[in-house]
Amino acid sequence: MTQARADAFDRVLAGNKSYARRCYEHEPQLWQSLSKGQAPDVLWFGCGDSRVPETTICDCKPGDIFVHRNIANIIAPGDLSSESIIDFAVGAVKVKKIVVCGHTKCGGAVNSLTDADLGPALNNWLQPLRDLRRKHQAEIDALDSIDDKSVRLAELNVRQSVDTIKRNPTVQKAVAERGVTIHGVLFDIVTGELKVLDASDDEPLSAAPWQHR
Ligand SMILES: [Zn+2]
Repeated sequence: MTQARADAFDRVLAGNKSYARRCYEHEPQLWQSLSKGQAPDVLWFGCGDSRVPETTICDCKPGDIFVHRNIANIIAPGDLSSESIIDFAVGAVKVKKIVVCGHTKCGGAVNSLTDADLGPALNNWLQPLRDLRRKHQAEIDALDSIDDKSVRLAELNVRQSVDTIKRNPTVQKAVAERGVTIHGVLFDIVTGELKVLDASDDEPLSAAPWQHR
């Protein structure tokens, strides 16, 4: 186990070396320019899942996206971490777009389909998602597979998180003064594609069912 960990660490260090070399060869100005400051246009709220790295899946570069990721991209009212991110990225850095991204095959969503004991911190963290599942229990129960149930819960979670963000005073000020918009998306782990949940910036996200392709 120790050996495997050491190998994985060696791998990321070697990966960083080759990345830095490639940057130096192909885009020597990138880090020099970024060292002067950041001006990302997008604030991204996503899940910590290793398969949904926003900068990679959106074909972006360092400096493009300000990021906050946690288990199951839960943005709950009163959460100091996400609210601090909003104050900084929206209030000070002045991003133009806020994106909340859920995804299929989300372990946090799957584990919120029941009330299984996952440990005190994780039980507490997943509480808003489990409450959301209870609120839509009949609809979720009617779906056939764990995949379908968890995708539906992930979508409901994105919509609820978008609504929470829209009620944040820093966001409301930015919407009024600079026309900042908030968007909900779902990432499909099977296809590698994002699906926009609602193209309208002004209307609250509807409860239209997610369609599997
Ligand atoms: Zn996830």
